[in-house]
Amino acid sequence: MVDLHADSLLIGRDLTRRSSVGHVDLPRLREGGVALQVFGIATSVPAGMNIERNDPPGFDLIGFAFCVRLAQGCLGGPPARLAAQVDRLAALAESDPALVWVRSAGDLERLRAARERDPRTLGALLGIEGAQSLGGDPDALDRAFASGVRMVGLAHFFDNDYAGSAHGAAKGGLTELGRRTIARMEELGIAADLAHLSPAAIDDVLAIATKPVLVSHGGVKGTCPNARTLSDAHVRGIAATGGVIGIGYWKEAVCGTAPRDVARAIRYAVDLVGDEHVALGSDYDGGTTVAFDASQLAVLTQAMLDEGLAETSVRRVLGENALRVLGATLPRN
Ligand SMILES: [Zn+2]
Repeated sequence: MVDLHADSLLIGRDLTRRSSVGHVDLPRLREGGVALQVFGIATSVPAGMNIERNDPPGFDLIGFAFCVRLAQGCLGGPPARLAAQVDRLAALAESDPALVWVRSAGDLERLRAARERDPRTLGALLGIEGAQSLGGDPDALDRAFASGVRMVGLAHFFDNDYAGSAHGAAKGGLTELGRRTIARMEELGIAADLAHLSPAAIDDVLAIATKPVLVSHGGVKGTCPNARTLSDAHVRGIAATGGVIGIGYWKEAVCGTAPRDVARAIRYAVDLVGDEHVALGSDYDGGTTVAFDASQLAVLTQAMLDEGLAETSVRRVLGENALRVLGATLPRN
Protein backbone atom coordinates (compact mmCIF):
# COMPACT_ATOMS: atom_id res chain seq x y z
CA MET A 1 0.00 0.00 0.00
CA VAL A 2 1.03 3.56 -0.69
CA ASP A 3 -0.49 6.53 1.09
CA LEU A 4 0.14 9.84 -0.65
CA HIS A 5 -0.40 12.17 2.29
CA ALA A 6 -0.14 12.18 6.07
CA ASP A 7 0.80 15.20 8.20
CA SER A 8 2.35 13.16 10.99
CA LEU A 9 5.73 14.94 11.01
CA LEU A 10 3.88 18.06 12.09
CA ILE A 11 2.79 16.74 15.44
CA GLY A 12 4.91 16.23 18.51
CA ARG A 13 4.30 12.51 19.00
CA ASP A 14 7.22 10.04 18.89
CA LEU A 15 6.51 8.19 15.64
CA THR A 16 8.74 5.25 16.55
CA ARG A 17 6.26 4.18 19.24
CA ARG A 18 2.80 2.78 18.80
CA SER A 19 0.26 5.27 20.06
CA SER A 20 -3.49 5.23 20.42
CA VAL A 21 -3.58 8.95 19.60
CA GLY A 22 -3.80 10.20 16.01
CA HIS A 23 -3.51 7.89 13.02
CA VAL A 24 0.08 7.18 12.01
CA ASP A 25 3.30 5.92 13.57
CA LEU A 26 5.83 3.46 12.23
CA PRO A 27 4.36 0.45 14.11
CA ARG A 28 0.83 1.20 12.89
CA LEU A 29 1.95 1.73 9.28
CA ARG A 30 3.58 -1.70 9.41
CA GLU A 31 0.51 -3.33 10.94
CA GLY A 32 -1.65 -1.84 8.20
CA GLY A 33 0.58 -3.19 5.44
CA VAL A 34 1.81 0.19 4.19
CA ALA A 35 4.90 0.05 1.96
CA LEU A 36 5.35 3.76 1.34
CA GLN A 37 4.07 6.73 3.30
CA VAL A 38 4.30 10.22 1.86
CA PHE A 39 4.70 12.75 4.66
CA GLY A 40 3.27 16.09 3.61
CA ILE A 41 4.82 19.04 5.38
CA ALA A 42 2.47 21.85 6.29
CA THR A 43 4.04 24.98 7.72
CA SER A 44 1.44 27.71 7.83
CA VAL A 45 -2.33 27.83 8.29
CA PRO A 46 -4.45 30.80 9.25
CA ALA A 47 -6.54 30.94 12.40
CA GLY A 48 -10.15 30.38 11.39
CA MET A 49 -9.00 28.13 8.53
CA ASN A 50 -11.87 26.94 6.33
CA ILE A 51 -12.26 25.45 2.85
CA GLU A 52 -14.10 28.45 1.36
CA ARG A 53 -11.96 31.55 1.81
CA ASN A 54 -8.81 32.42 3.77
CA ASP A 55 -6.39 35.32 3.81
CA PRO A 56 -2.69 34.68 4.50
CA PRO A 57 -2.26 34.10 8.21
CA GLY A 58 -2.00 36.99 10.57
CA PHE A 59 -2.11 34.56 13.46
CA ASP A 60 -0.50 31.33 12.25
CA LEU A 61 -1.87 28.19 13.92
CA ILE A 62 1.10 26.01 12.98
CA GLY A 63 3.62 28.61 14.16
CA PHE A 64 1.66 28.87 17.39
CA ALA A 65 1.61 25.07 17.87
CA PHE A 66 5.39 24.87 17.36
CA CYS A 67 5.98 27.61 19.91
CA VAL A 68 3.60 26.10 22.47
CA ARG A 69 5.65 22.91 22.52
CA LEU A 70 8.94 24.87 22.23
CA ALA A 71 9.78 22.92 19.07
CA GLN A 72 12.62 23.63 16.67
CA GLY A 73 11.08 25.93 14.04
CA CYS A 74 9.06 28.05 16.46
CA LEU A 75 11.03 31.07 15.24
CA GLY A 76 11.97 31.62 11.60
CA GLY A 77 8.64 31.24 9.84
CA PRO A 78 7.58 28.56 7.34
CA PRO A 79 11.12 27.73 6.06
CA ALA A 80 12.23 26.96 9.63
CA ARG A 81 9.20 24.76 10.20
CA LEU A 82 9.92 22.93 6.94
CA ALA A 83 13.53 22.35 8.04
CA ALA A 84 12.35 21.06 11.41
CA GLN A 85 10.09 18.47 9.80
CA VAL A 86 12.76 17.38 7.31
CA ASP A 87 15.04 16.86 10.32
CA ARG A 88 12.35 14.72 11.96
CA LEU A 89 12.26 12.32 9.01
CA ALA A 90 16.07 12.26 8.90
CA ALA A 91 16.10 11.30 12.59
CA LEU A 92 13.48 8.59 12.03
CA ALA A 93 15.46 7.12 9.12
CA GLU A 94 18.57 7.21 11.31
CA SER A 95 16.90 5.40 14.19
CA ASP A 96 15.11 2.73 12.15
CA PRO A 97 17.23 0.65 9.77
CA ALA A 98 14.06 -0.76 8.15
CA LEU A 99 12.91 2.73 7.12
CA VAL A 100 13.90 3.69 3.57
CA TRP A 101 13.83 7.41 2.77
CA VAL A 102 12.76 7.42 -0.89
CA ARG A 103 14.41 10.14 -2.99
CA SER A 104 14.76 8.44 -6.38
CA ALA A 105 13.23 5.83 -8.65
CA GLY A 106 16.21 3.68 -7.67
CA ASP A 107 15.15 3.96 -4.02
CA LEU A 108 11.67 2.72 -4.99
CA GLU A 109 13.26 -0.36 -6.53
CA ARG A 110 15.45 -0.87 -3.48
CA LEU A 111 12.35 -0.55 -1.29
CA ARG A 112 10.55 -3.18 -3.31
CA ALA A 113 13.49 -5.59 -3.10
CA ALA A 114 14.00 -4.95 0.61
CA ARG A 115 10.32 -5.63 1.33
CA GLU A 116 10.63 -9.01 -0.33
CA ARG A 117 13.34 -9.90 2.16
CA ASP A 118 11.72 -8.15 5.13
CA PRO A 119 8.05 -7.10 4.95
CA ARG A 120 8.66 -4.69 7.84
CA THR A 121 10.60 -2.45 5.49
CA LEU A 122 8.79 0.83 5.15
CA GLY A 123 9.38 3.68 2.71
CA ALA A 124 8.92 7.37 3.41
CA LEU A 125 8.83 10.26 0.97
CA LEU A 126 8.69 14.00 1.70
CA GLY A 127 6.26 16.45 0.20
CA ILE A 128 5.30 20.00 1.07
CA GLU A 129 1.94 21.73 1.28
CA GLY A 130 2.35 25.29 0.10
CA ALA A 131 5.46 26.69 -1.57
CA GLN A 132 5.57 29.58 0.93
CA SER A 133 7.62 27.05 2.93
CA LEU A 134 10.45 27.32 0.42
CA GLY A 135 11.31 30.91 1.24
CA GLY A 136 11.67 33.69 -1.29
CA ASP A 137 15.06 33.26 -2.93
CA PRO A 138 15.59 31.81 -6.43
CA ASP A 139 17.47 28.75 -5.11
CA ALA A 140 14.77 27.81 -2.64
CA LEU A 141 13.33 24.92 -4.66
CA ASP A 142 16.75 23.45 -5.42
CA ARG A 143 17.61 23.66 -1.74
CA ALA A 144 14.41 21.83 -0.80
CA PHE A 145 15.26 19.16 -3.38
CA ALA A 146 18.74 18.81 -1.89
CA SER A 147 17.16 18.34 1.54
CA GLY A 148 15.04 15.48 0.18
CA VAL A 149 11.69 17.03 -0.81
CA ARG A 150 10.19 15.11 -3.74
CA MET A 151 6.62 16.40 -3.96
CA VAL A 152 5.42 20.00 -3.90
CA GLY A 153 1.93 21.42 -3.71
CA LEU A 154 2.30 25.07 -4.67
CA ALA A 155 -0.47 26.44 -2.45
CA HIS A 156 -2.13 25.29 0.76
CA PHE A 157 -4.95 27.20 2.51
CA PHE A 158 -4.23 30.68 1.09
CA ASP A 159 -3.05 32.23 -2.17
CA ASN A 160 0.71 32.78 -2.26
CA ASP A 161 3.42 34.05 -4.64
CA TYR A 162 3.21 30.80 -6.63
CA ALA A 163 -0.45 29.94 -7.10
CA GLY A 164 -4.04 30.47 -6.06
CA SER A 165 -5.50 28.18 -3.44
CA ALA A 166 -8.94 26.53 -3.66
CA HIS A 167 -9.46 28.15 -0.25
CA GLY A 168 -7.83 31.51 -1.00
CA ALA A 169 -9.23 35.01 -1.35
CA ALA A 170 -8.65 35.49 -5.12
CA LYS A 171 -8.28 31.82 -6.15
CA GLY A 172 -6.19 32.81 -9.17
CA GLY A 173 -4.06 30.66 -11.44
CA LEU A 174 -0.30 30.09 -11.46
CA THR A 175 1.91 33.15 -11.21
CA GLU A 176 5.01 33.50 -13.38
CA LEU A 177 7.02 32.18 -10.41
CA GLY A 178 4.59 29.26 -10.14
CA ARG A 179 5.07 28.38 -13.82
CA ARG A 180 8.85 28.50 -13.51
CA THR A 181 8.64 26.39 -10.38
CA ILE A 182 6.59 23.67 -12.09
CA ALA A 183 9.14 23.55 -14.93
CA ARG A 184 12.06 23.33 -12.49
CA MET A 185 10.26 20.64 -10.47
CA GLU A 186 10.03 18.53 -13.62
CA GLU A 187 13.74 19.00 -14.32
CA LEU A 188 14.73 18.06 -10.78
CA GLY A 189 12.31 15.16 -10.35
CA ILE A 190 9.79 16.61 -7.91
CA ALA A 191 6.18 15.49 -8.32
CA ALA A 192 3.58 18.24 -8.81
CA ASP A 193 0.82 17.91 -6.23
CA LEU A 194 -2.42 19.66 -7.19
CA ALA A 195 -4.14 19.18 -3.82
CA HIS A 196 -5.54 22.47 -2.46
CA LEU A 197 -4.92 24.38 -5.73
CA SER A 198 -7.63 26.64 -7.11
CA PRO A 199 -9.47 25.39 -10.22
CA ALA A 200 -7.67 28.07 -12.27
CA ALA A 201 -4.27 26.95 -10.98
CA ILE A 202 -5.10 23.30 -11.74
CA ASP A 203 -6.00 24.33 -15.31
CA ASP A 204 -2.68 26.16 -15.60
CA VAL A 205 -0.62 23.21 -14.33
CA LEU A 206 -2.44 20.78 -16.61
CA ALA A 207 -1.71 23.08 -19.57
CA ILE A 208 2.06 23.02 -19.00
CA ALA A 209 2.79 19.68 -17.29
CA THR A 210 4.87 17.25 -19.33
CA LYS A 211 5.03 14.59 -16.59
CA PRO A 212 2.26 12.82 -14.67
CA VAL A 213 0.79 15.00 -11.92
CA LEU A 214 -1.01 13.92 -8.79
CA VAL A 215 -3.44 15.00 -6.15
CA SER A 216 -1.93 13.73 -2.91
CA HIS A 217 -5.18 13.94 -0.94
CA GLY A 218 -8.63 14.98 -2.05
CA GLY A 219 -12.00 13.89 -3.29
CA VAL A 220 -14.33 14.19 -6.26
CA LYS A 221 -17.30 16.47 -6.73
CA GLY A 222 -19.15 13.45 -8.17
CA THR A 223 -19.67 12.08 -4.65
CA CYS A 224 -18.88 15.15 -2.53
CA PRO A 225 -19.31 18.57 -4.13
CA ASN A 226 -17.44 21.33 -2.29
CA ALA A 227 -14.52 23.74 -2.68
CA ARG A 228 -11.98 21.06 -1.72
CA THR A 229 -12.91 18.41 -4.33
CA LEU A 230 -12.19 17.88 -8.03
CA SER A 231 -14.54 18.38 -10.95
CA ASP A 232 -14.95 15.57 -13.47
CA ALA A 233 -13.02 17.69 -15.98
CA HIS A 234 -10.06 17.94 -13.61
CA VAL A 235 -10.18 14.23 -12.80
CA ARG A 236 -10.01 13.59 -16.56
CA GLY A 237 -7.23 16.15 -17.02
CA ILE A 238 -5.08 14.60 -14.30
CA ALA A 239 -5.66 11.12 -15.73
CA ALA A 240 -4.65 12.42 -19.17
CA THR A 241 -1.18 13.28 -17.81
CA GLY A 242 -0.88 9.66 -16.64
CA GLY A 243 -1.33 10.87 -13.07
CA VAL A 244 -3.31 9.80 -10.02
CA ILE A 245 -5.83 11.18 -7.57
CA GLY A 246 -5.32 10.18 -3.95
CA ILE A 247 -8.75 9.83 -2.37
CA GLY A 248 -8.91 10.97 1.25
CA TYR A 249 -10.67 9.45 4.23
CA TRP A 250 -12.14 12.54 5.87
CA LYS A 251 -15.44 14.35 5.71
CA GLU A 252 -14.66 17.26 3.34
CA ALA A 253 -13.08 14.81 0.87
CA VAL A 254 -15.71 12.09 0.67
CA CYS A 255 -18.71 13.52 2.58
CA GLY A 256 -18.51 10.91 5.32
CA THR A 257 -15.96 9.05 7.37
CA ALA A 258 -16.99 5.42 6.80
CA PRO A 259 -14.74 3.19 4.68
CA ARG A 260 -17.75 2.90 2.40
CA ASP A 261 -17.71 6.66 1.70
CA VAL A 262 -14.05 6.44 0.66
CA ALA A 263 -14.75 3.38 -1.50
CA ARG A 264 -17.63 5.18 -3.22
CA ALA A 265 -15.40 8.09 -4.23
CA ILE A 266 -12.78 5.62 -5.47
CA ARG A 267 -15.44 3.77 -7.44
CA TYR A 268 -16.72 7.01 -8.97
CA ALA A 269 -13.24 8.03 -10.13
CA VAL A 270 -12.49 4.53 -11.44
CA ASP A 271 -15.74 4.58 -13.43
CA LEU A 272 -14.84 8.01 -14.82
CA VAL A 273 -11.20 7.53 -15.84
CA GLY A 274 -10.28 3.89 -15.23
CA ASP A 275 -8.51 2.08 -12.42
CA GLU A 276 -5.01 3.34 -13.29
CA HIS A 277 -5.59 6.88 -12.04
CA VAL A 278 -6.88 6.47 -8.52
CA ALA A 279 -4.83 6.10 -5.35
CA LEU A 280 -5.02 6.72 -1.59
CA GLY A 281 -4.35 9.97 0.25
CA SER A 282 -5.48 9.65 3.83
CA ASP A 283 -4.67 13.11 5.27
CA TYR A 284 -3.94 11.20 8.47
CA ASP A 285 -2.89 13.39 11.40
CA GLY A 286 -3.95 16.46 9.43
CA GLY A 287 -6.50 17.84 11.84
CA THR A 288 -9.01 15.51 10.20
CA THR A 289 -11.43 13.10 11.83
CA VAL A 290 -10.92 9.65 10.33
CA ALA A 291 -12.74 6.51 11.48
CA PHE A 292 -9.83 4.09 11.09
CA ASP A 293 -6.10 4.51 11.64
CA ALA A 294 -3.14 3.21 9.63
CA SER A 295 -3.20 -0.15 11.40
CA GLN A 296 -6.79 -0.74 10.30
CA LEU A 297 -6.42 -0.13 6.56
CA ALA A 298 -7.78 -3.57 5.71
CA VAL A 299 -11.26 -2.08 6.21
CA LEU A 300 -10.65 0.00 3.11
CA THR A 301 -9.62 -2.98 1.01
CA GLN A 302 -12.80 -4.72 2.12
CA ALA A 303 -14.92 -1.65 1.35
CA MET A 304 -13.50 -1.48 -2.18
CA LEU A 305 -14.29 -5.16 -2.75
CA ASP A 306 -17.78 -4.58 -1.34
CA GLU A 307 -18.18 -1.69 -3.77
CA GLY A 308 -17.63 -4.19 -6.59
CA LEU A 309 -14.07 -3.31 -7.60
CA ALA A 310 -12.07 -6.16 -9.10
CA GLU A 311 -9.03 -7.40 -7.18
CA THR A 312 -6.69 -6.10 -9.89
CA SER A 313 -8.29 -2.65 -9.57
CA VAL A 314 -7.99 -2.75 -5.78
CA ARG A 315 -4.27 -3.54 -6.05
CA ARG A 316 -3.75 -0.64 -8.42
CA VAL A 317 -5.58 1.80 -6.16
CA LEU A 318 -3.83 0.51 -3.03
CA GLY A 319 -0.37 1.19 -4.36
CA GLU A 320 0.60 0.21 -7.89
CA ASN A 321 -0.68 3.44 -9.47
CA ALA A 322 1.09 5.71 -7.00
CA LEU A 323 4.33 3.77 -7.48
CA ARG A 324 4.02 4.10 -11.26
CA VAL A 325 3.62 7.88 -11.06
CA LEU A 326 6.45 8.32 -8.56
CA GLY A 327 8.68 6.04 -10.64
CA ALA A 328 8.02 8.24 -13.69
CA THR A 329 8.58 11.47 -11.78
CA LEU A 330 11.47 11.00 -9.34
CA PRO A 331 15.09 11.30 -10.45
CA ARG A 332 16.55 8.05 -11.71
CA ASN A 333 19.05 7.72 -8.88
ZN1 LIG B 1 -3.92 19.15 3.05
